[in-house]
Amino acid sequence: MSLSRFNAIDTIQNRSELDIEYVESPSEPIASFYGENVFTDATMKAHLDEKSYLSVKAAVQTGAKLTRETADAVAKSMMVWAQAKGVTHYTHWFQPLTGKTAEKHDSFFTLTPDGKVIEEFAGDALVQQEPDGSSFPGGGMRSTFEARGYTAWDPSSPAFILEVGEGKTLCIPTVFTTWNGEAMDYKLPLLKSQSFLEKAAIPVCQLFDKNITKVSTTLGWEQEYFVMDEALYNARPDLLMTGRTLIGKHAPKGQQLEDHYFGAIPERVYAYMRDLETECHKLSIPVRTRHNEVAPCQFEIAPMFEEVNVAVDHNTLLMDLMDRVARRHKLRVLLHEKPFAGVNGSGKHNNWSMGTNTGKNLLSPGKEPGKNLQFLTFFVNTIRAVHEHADLLRATIATANNDHRLGANEAPPAIISAYLGESLDKLLNDIEKSGKSDVAGVKETLSLLSRLPDLEKDSTDRNRTSPFAFTGNKFEIRAVGSSQNCAGPMTVMNTIMGAQLLKFKEEVDKNIASGKEQSEAILSVIVKYIKESKKTRFEGNGYSQEWRDEAAKRGLSNFSTTPPALKAMLSRKTTELYTKSGIFTKKEIHAHYDVQLHNYITSLQIESRTLGEMCTNLVIPAGIRYQTAVADNILKLKQLGMPETAYAAQLQILKALSEAINGTAQGVLKMTQARRAANELEGEAAAEAYCNTVRTEMDAIRIFADRLEYLVQDSSWPLPKYREMFFLR
Ligand code: ADP
Ligand code: MG
Repeated sequence: MSLSRFNAIDTIQNRSELDIEYVESPSEPIASFYGENVFTDATMKAHLDEKSYLSVKAAVQTGAKLTRETADAVAKSMMVWAQAKGVTHYTHWFQPLTGKTAEKHDSFFTLTPDGKVIEEFAGDALVQQEPDGSSFPGGGMRSTFEARGYTAWDPSSPAFILEVGEGKTLCIPTVFTTWNGEAMDYKLPLLKSQSFLEKAAIPVCQLFDKNITKVSTTLGWEQEYFVMDEALYNARPDLLMTGRTLIGKHAPKGQQLEDHYFGAIPERVYAYMRDLETECHKLSIPVRTRHNEVAPCQFEIAPMFEEVNVAVDHNTLLMDLMDRVARRHKLRVLLHEKPFAGVNGSGKHNNWSMGTNTGKNLLSPGKEPGKNLQFLTFFVNTIRAVHEHADLLRATIATANNDHRLGANEAPPAIISAYLGESLDKLLNDIEKSGKSDVAGVKETLSLLSRLPDLEKDSTDRNRTSPFAFTGNKFEIRAVGSSQNCAGPMTVMNTIMGAQLLKFKEEVDKNIASGKEQSEAILSVIVKYIKESKKTRFEGNGYSQEWRDEAAKRGLSNFSTTPPALKAMLSRKTTELYTKSGIFTKKEIHAHYDVQLHNYITSLQIESRTLGEMCTNLVIPAGIRYQTAVADNILKLKQLGMPETAYAAQLQILKALSEAINGTAQGVLKMTQARRAANELEGEAAAEAYCNTVRTEMDAIRIFADRLEYLVQDSSWPLPKYREMFFLR
């Protein structure tokens, strides 16, 4: 009998160069193909009459409505441009709450009433579509008989061409709503939150600079991922079904030596990265950074930051491209937050800041942050906002996958705290004490060796253990999961910051009205906020037990699992925040909550079923096979009249095998019962049952199954082992 594990290993060892589509690095400079598949501003300008072009720009910049004629003109120009590139179909591209992207392709080709074939793309088709929305999660916003969902063009994110194999499709970024305009996607709330923040931020900016008339949030994501050969991936039902290994004994060597981090990128992965980068650049995704991550076979890709809406689209598009390009290379990308136990999981750091039309980064401290009242205003307000809504920020990153990562190996804790870095932490403490802001924190230089140039010391050190860290000129939200859509956390950041800035402005105005001079009026609110938000600041080691104890003393929340974490979405505070700011209606809040709960339940259900099958069909049979061999051996030795000492070791092995087989089998039974019971429940109760019973049983099974992997002879173990998945390529 040949086991699929060994077939997979053979396949990898015999992979020829021909088998893998190595793509030659483009010899032309990146500038010559950058954005070639995007209907960029310049492309639009070149393809459109001036009047239509200006109306589209106005629509993007001021939210002005587009006329039917303009929409027709834009649609036509998009079609002409796309057809010249061999595109035959178009699709409204959107981001439903499944966390994946969705598309439904329609052809440009159509028949006129008299049977003539024409190619057409009218303004109507560009502006609005009605995909059959019934199979997308809507959390009870629509009963299935009113299954209509609408996608509506988002002109602020450019259309692009997706090449899949030989086919090329024009993709129109859209929002996805119900008939009543309720958001069924990530994008509509994000767009609303962006304009909410902007409206709140401009008056605050104008306290300092009247020329500031536009503020937008910027996002630079860093995407972590694992890569492995597809043959090994296909031999693991758990990876295929759930994206993570549900069982698997730790490899003797994991990440202890930290020799993978920033080490040389393996050649095969390097080829993959180069190919992926080329695809990204054609689509104007400005990826710049690639490196190894801490765990074996873990990597990271990061772009230059962009305006948040475009950055979110680019990240979702990237996740899609990563998978497609990997398949060309006979590789698989794992975007799961915790594909392997015992080594690091993957996150998606969201670097968040705000930029103005005057080219200023509002979180840039400058040379003397202590004298920079504008910086202090935005900096302290961010901390105050996170302090106020830490639970909501935690809720937005709560998923079944991320539960495995938060608080585990070198992952941020589930406790939300903010890290500022030594000098800014000290600065705020000084301001708090003195009530003055001219305590200058001048940038220091770091002299290494006289023959090396002086390095400018960042005003913050690094703290990899914080979920929310200030890193020089932006906040880095490190707890976001690698497979998540960034729009969730970005919507929360924009909304809480917007609400915070409104409050700030109100308090400053009050101070001014009571006779305070402006800078004094601002400073006294800043001092107040520094005091109020102090308990959310933490500079130490977030991975330590001491921090958990300390956080509990401070009264900070620590939700280690999804069901309790999600509840913050429904709290009175959140409801007030969202309804006042107009980001979500009450109905939408509940619907989005239901979808998150449903996603949680479903993913645990699939995991539990997969684990049951794997144990019953693969793990236990492997144990029994080896058990039989050992028992036969003992019987034979006995028959030969050997003394008991001759098979003492075998008896011990047999006993250990029996215990592990029994433990696994009983665990599966218990887990199945727990799952059946959970399935009888609904909503929150079901989620809690999955969390507290099914998940616990799954963990218990793993201990026995991993023990079997250790005990059973290597040649009869059917599943690729951690060492193979980590190191074979
Ligand atoms: P590290 O891994 O050290 O955190 P990286 O260079 O990998 O640093 O990532 C930093 C990310 O922060 C990049 O995506 C970068 O574009 C982004 N970034 C830099 N400045 C800003 C800003 N003002 N707003 C948002 N993101 C930013
Ligand atoms: Mg980072």
